[in-house]
Amino acid sequence: MKSRLLLLVIFSATLTWAEPEPTWYKGNTHTHSLWSDGNDFPEMIVDWYRARGYNFLVLSDHNTLSRGERWMDISRIRKKQALDKYQVRFGDRVAFRDDVDGKKQVRLATYPEMQEMFDLPGRFLLVEGEEITARGIDPDYPLKVKHVHINAMNLETLVKPIKGKPIREVMRSTLQALRKLEAETGHPILDHINHPNFHYSISVDDLAQVVEEQFFEVYNGHPSVHQLGDTNHPPMNEMWDLANAIRIFTLDAAPLFGIASDDSHYYHGGNVSPGRGWVMVKADALDSDKLVKAMRRGDFYASTGVYLRKIAYDPKTRRLQILIAPDADQTFTTRIIGLDRETMAGKERARFDTLVVDYTLGPDDRCIRAEITSSRPHPNPSFKDQVEQAWTQPVGWEKPQAE
Ligand SMILES: [Zn+2]
Ligand SMILES: [Zn+2]
Repeated sequence: MKSRLLLLVIFSATLTWAEPEPTWYKGNTHTHSLWSDGNDFPEMIVDWYRARGYNFLVLSDHNTLSRGERWMDISRIRKKQALDKYQVRFGDRVAFRDDVDGKKQVRLATYPEMQEMFDLPGRFLLVEGEEITARGIDPDYPLKVKHVHINAMNLETLVKPIKGKPIREVMRSTLQALRKLEAETGHPILDHINHPNFHYSISVDDLAQVVEEQFFEVYNGHPSVHQLGDTNHPPMNEMWDLANAIRIFTLDAAPLFGIASDDSHYYHGGNVSPGRGWVMVKADALDSDKLVKAMRRGDFYASTGVYLRKIAYDPKTRRLQILIAPDADQTFTTRIIGLDRETMAGKERARFDTLVVDYTLGPDDRCIRAEITSSRPHPNPSFKDQVEQAWTQPVGWEKPQAE
């Protein structure tokens, strides 16, 4: 026990930088509200996340931004208690009107209004977003619909979904539209491919071949996304390795990074609830451009409950060090997973049951990631027997620099 503690102290000391350490910011990049098919008012949702210690939240409704004047018929609010709770919490702010036909309506708050209400410098940031919700076709089975949902974070202009084209064309054209927008505004946009196993729409090969995409959801909290796959489809964590093996060994391309998100829709009971999956981003400041840039650098991890104190990778020594935040109630198992050229899949290279994970990549190791699994059951599981986990981003995949 003593030696373990000593190791912890030494490890912490070796990770002290001269400049102030960047902070870990907790955020959810995938959330729905009454602006599309979520069942609560957006302020209620932002309030929920902020009160629970999240540092940023992306409202990502289907094919809409939370902008402009939007009045909603009260009869369309399926959960009656939503309006009651909203009025109790926000009282005078709630705006009603009768439309020309005498129907009672309530106004939905906009992104700029909510920014004003909730943003706290350095502590909480609301980030604008959209779930670009498109349908593509399978080139081999043209009648089969393929759902292509791409989340975009930190954008100011609505991006319209592309329809009726082959799936990879839909993915690529959407990403091109985002890159164009980014060039016009100067603000980086983070996009991620959502829930590939939703209706088994996006295959490993699709994830691999569309190399323009850098991110996908390795965990999505919606219970209908086939997180664990089935007999014919791999689970999402294995898809990650399978797609990255194609990218690294066949396409000579960068790997995908993994995001965990809520995809929350229901806030009054029901099984599509918030608080299941998030990202922890290590950034210099709580600023949307900086968060996106940090994630592009790979300075983040995905989590469904496990917290990490440190992740350090030194490309020169090829040493990966992780420090898991201790918790008296849990034990942790970390699997170091590498890509195997023979099988073109992920392969376990090492396993740790300590809070300190220290792994130096061997000459055959290319593209290593860590998957940390806690002994603690997830408090709000999206699938049976779910336990808390964390996923770090692949390292050791860059080509060696020419001397
Ligand atoms: Zn979706
Ligand atoms: Zn969604």
